[in-house]
Amino acid sequence: MVSSDTRIAIIGGGMGGLTAAIALTRIAGVQVTVFEQASRLGEVGAGVTVAPNASRVLDRLGVLEQIRAVGAVPDGHGVYLDARGEMVTDAAWEDSGRQYRNIGMYRPDLIDALARAVDGDTIHLGHRLTSLETTADGVRVEFENGVHDVFDAVVGADGIHSAVRPHIGQFPEPVYSGYIVYRGVVDASRLPDDWPMISQVWMGDSRHFMCYPLQQRKLFNFVAGVPSDRPLEGPWSGPCEVSELAAEFAGDGWDPRLQQFISLIDKTFWWGLFDHEPLTNWSRGPVTLLGDAAHTMLPHQGQGVNQAIEDSMALATFLAAAETVADIPEAFRRYTAVRMQRTAILQHGSRRAGAMFDAQYEFADLAKRDADIRVGRDFRRSAVFDYDAEKVATRALARFRKVQYA
Ligand SMILES: Cc1cc2nc3c(=O)[nH]c(=O)nc-3n(C[C@H](O)[C@H](O)[C@H](O)COP(=O)(O)OP(=O)(O)OC[C@H]3O[C@@H](n4cnc5c(N)ncnc54)[C@H](O)[C@@H]3O)c2cc1C
Repeated sequence: MVSSDTRIAIIGGGMGGLTAAIALTRIAGVQVTVFEQASRLGEVGAGVTVAPNASRVLDRLGVLEQIRAVGAVPDGHGVYLDARGEMVTDAAWEDSGRQYRNIGMYRPDLIDALARAVDGDTIHLGHRLTSLETTADGVRVEFENGVHDVFDAVVGADGIHSAVRPHIGQFPEPVYSGYIVYRGVVDASRLPDDWPMISQVWMGDSRHFMCYPLQQRKLFNFVAGVPSDRPLEGPWSGPCEVSELAAEFAGDGWDPRLQQFISLIDKTFWWGLFDHEPLTNWSRGPVTLLGDAAHTMLPHQGQGVNQAIEDSMALATFLAAAETVADIPEAFRRYTAVRMQRTAILQHGSRRAGAMFDAQYEFADLAKRDADIRVGRDFRRSAVFDYDAEKVATRALARFRKVQYA
């Protein structure tokens, strides 16, 4: 274990950076400082699903109960429906051991629960990283407000536009998916009494609509994906009228229950869906990446944050095995080797999942689409939900040691 006065800077106080702060403190026993550019911690007013593979990590970090207490566990498996509301298949919602289930989280609640588990003094708001340099003394970081400091190592958890990533020599181009999503929440008390407390996805021709419960079932999240050129012409997100969203799902071809849900939406905003090709490296010396900075993916498998949570556990496991500060670059290389492969599969899988939901898949053959979604459900449980990030990192550590001493 490196000494407890080892200092690590985490750039970015999003869901990835905060989870990394908890993991590095509790598992690797190092001192962390989180630098966030915004003047307060926050998130957009929409939902996110914490999946079983992330719950397993959060449980070991000792924060799952607090998160579950403010989230919503659905009544049962979710459903994929066609545009008219006919069932295509059920959706995976728990791991094979039935220990962990999907939890619908209102994003500001998740940020709040994670921030409560981090020592408040270690979070520095209003600090936008502007420069980073590796020197003989460590990594020097400098912020827009003039503050600078030197750390033993730096973790870039600063999202899709990462300012740390160029230091690793990675300059991925954002790739626009051709789709925007309308996002927001509905007050659950306005829904009909028999509205199912599960995740539902309606899939039509080139568009889909998803909803699921959040915040102890007081809110329902919605995400509606439709094709659009809008982000190519201007900003990547913005406010919009509910009537614009309603028009996308109007007409006889759509389930009247879905249209009823849409009629209860008071407010929405649009968001362009971008990702990038998998990076070829995440670490350089004592600097590494985590979360969207390392692997922005489309949201169609609901795995962006969940992968950042897995990253956090893997990073902490490799760091805990470092004996001195001089071992940190090797710990970061091992972390990179294990995590890059996992997340690259999910980056590509998320594109494929989006194409399936939106019936753009292999010339819109709906029968094939439906069959693939059924197969995808079982894959999702075994390959995504059952994954144990700590176990995988621990096993890899043993293999790395064997190779080193053979
Ligand atoms: C519609 C939609 C639905 C989604 N649903 C899910 C889901 O159900 N499940 C799931 O797992 N994922 C989901 N995702 C993906 C998920 O939102 C992202 O993967 C996740 O937010 C990434 O977290 P992060 O902490 O890595 O990055 P971010 O959330 O982008 O946080 C980065 C932080 O770094 C800060 N920062 C940036 N630059 C600097 C700088 N220079 N200096 C200091 N601070 C800086 C930012 O202000 C920000 O706070 C969804 C995404 C979308 C668009």
